[in-house]
Amino acid sequence: MTPNTSIRLSRRALLAGLGALAASPSFAARARLNIVATTGMITDLVRSVGGDQVAVAGLMGAGVDPHAYRQTRSDIVAMTRADAVMWHGLYLEAQMEDFLLDLARKRPVLAVADTLDPARLVAHEDYDGRFDPHVWMAPDLWIDCVPAVVDALTNLRPEAHDVFATNGSTFVAEAKALSAYAQDVLAGVPAERRILLTAHDAFGYFGTAYGFDVMGIQGISTESEAGLNRIGTLVDFLVERQLPAVFVETSVSDRNIRALIEGAAAQGHQVRIGGSLFSDAMGPDGTYEGTWLGMIDHNVTTIARALGADTPVGGRLGRLKAAA
Ligand code: ZN
Repeated sequence: MTPNTSIRLSRRALLAGLGALAASPSFAARARLNIVATTGMITDLVRSVGGDQVAVAGLMGAGVDPHAYRQTRSDIVAMTRADAVMWHGLYLEAQMEDFLLDLARKRPVLAVADTLDPARLVAHEDYDGRFDPHVWMAPDLWIDCVPAVVDALTNLRPEAHDVFATNGSTFVAEAKALSAYAQDVLAGVPAERRILLTAHDAFGYFGTAYGFDVMGIQGISTESEAGLNRIGTLVDFLVERQLPAVFVETSVSDRNIRALIEGAAAQGHQVRIGGSLFSDAMGPDGTYEGTWLGMIDHNVTTIARALGADTPVGGRLGRLKAAA
């Protein structure tokens, strides 16, 4: 064999090897899109739509407040290396906005909730020209974020469009079933108790969807501090309406809610904590409450039970922890 023949053979073997690699379905399946998402809710949505085509790293875990969160050094590295970054938008990630807008000039970046029709949104009470960002609280609104995620993933991987579209439809169907459950159990709360008093104003869209008056001690953003006047006004309201329960949130300090309870007790009205709600963060990763479907099931079931409705012990699917 001459040296020349040897080289030709090697090249042929190499080309055959590459062809086999490109044609192998397991190769395509292994190369997942690498997506970085900000909040737990966005992480869950991208995982639900992307299925086995994506690996999603969420930056904000259980108990993390997105209004106050600022990107770390390792977050910046992860976002810069990702195939795409998906964030909530609507000024929820107020401290990250400048960074993300800048990154969007260089990399594929999607502000998912910014794609919603503004006609369906409510104005932000603290910032002119901004909207209340807490749209995941109303399943019928959150559903409308699905097409933008399907489109963004399809742009990154056109051949998987059918997978993304099918996963998106499955998610929408589950969300509609969840909304029907919410209508059903929350209808059991007596009219005079349809008041949701929480640490900050995250439940506006929820209240509109299910017929509750909603009050937060802090405003739409947790960045604004609650004044003593605000707490005094709410104590008077609680006592006057004889409200049985108020709610703490997993991503907000319970200091103000406790001040409210003490204030009501001083006026002779015993109000209790009706439960801990997932407002801007979900439960721990890997649990049912660590999914959007589980977080809303938990909130709906906890609120309905604390305010006097009959609820199934484990929520819609029997999967909630007993202490919900
Ligand atoms: Zn919030």
